[in-house]
Amino acid sequence: MTVETTTVTAGGAAAGRAPGRPARPPLADLITSVLFVDFGEGRENRDTGHITYTRPPRARYECLLCLTAEGPVYGAAAVIAFTASIKTDHTSRCAGEHR
Ligand SMILES: [Zn+2]
Repeated sequence: MTVETTTVTAGGAAAGRAPGRPARPPLADLITSVLFVDFGEGRENRDTGHITYTRPPRARYECLLCLTAEGPVYGAAAVIAFTASIKTDHTSRCAGEHR
């Protein structure tokens, strides 16, 4: 199974305006980074729970403020660790302007 997930790290709602509500900034002004996660392709051994991957999971992070990318990282454990901390880790060293 391949699933590419896009995480909107700020805002995320459609830029449309509901009646009676104030206008929001354009969505492009709210998105500051994107986290891509590919869960890979593999088969699980039902007896052991072990997954043999034909394409390992991978993840990549792109910052739209400083225009850099981190990763990709490969493998289930690396993807779990990367996705858990990349936003915080990158923000601490980002040269872009965070709001
Ligand atoms: Zn950055």
